[in-house]
Amino acid sequence: MSGIETLFERIGAGELPSYKVYSDEHVYAFLDINPLSRGHTLVIPRRRYVHLDEVPDDVARALGSAVVRVARAVVEATGARSYNVLQNNGKNAGQAVPHVHFHVIPKYDDGTGLPHHWPAGELDEDDAQALRQAIAQAVGT
Ligand code: 5GP
Repeated sequence: MSGIETLFERIGAGELPSYKVYSDEHVYAFLDINPLSRGHTLVIPRRRYVHLDEVPDDVARALGSAVVRVARAVVEATGARSYNVLQNNGKNAGQAVPHVHFHVIPKYDDGTGLPHHWPAGELDEDDAQALRQAIAQAVGT
């Protein structure tokens, strides 16, 4: 054993097979085994973090850059004109694999891709003030 225990860590280390499309020091990208559409690709940090907010800044920079590069490549390779980038955190938000991953999901004219359901509400003015202040303070601007 290498000491690497989890599914996506093992994929990123090449210990389990995958259709790799990109890798660098911090990042690994590969085709999703159960794609929502043709070209559905996952971009992960090689090291395991469960939620996005746990990712350290140097890895975050590498991930952000890789997501854009992979999205560009998926668009070029598939010809998809539309696509979604999705990243779930927590079971309640639909995260099945507890290792940060970005989905790049082409959306085709036949409807395949990420289903679109957006039950938008209305921003409460009072709460917006409180929220803005709390988030801005936490983010450090
Ligand atoms: P989540 O629901 O956690 O955001 O998405 C997990 C994704 O990982 C799913 O789209 C699922 O198909 C994909 N997945 C789970 N196990 C494997 C695997 O062993 N190999 C690959 N390539 N994808 C996987």
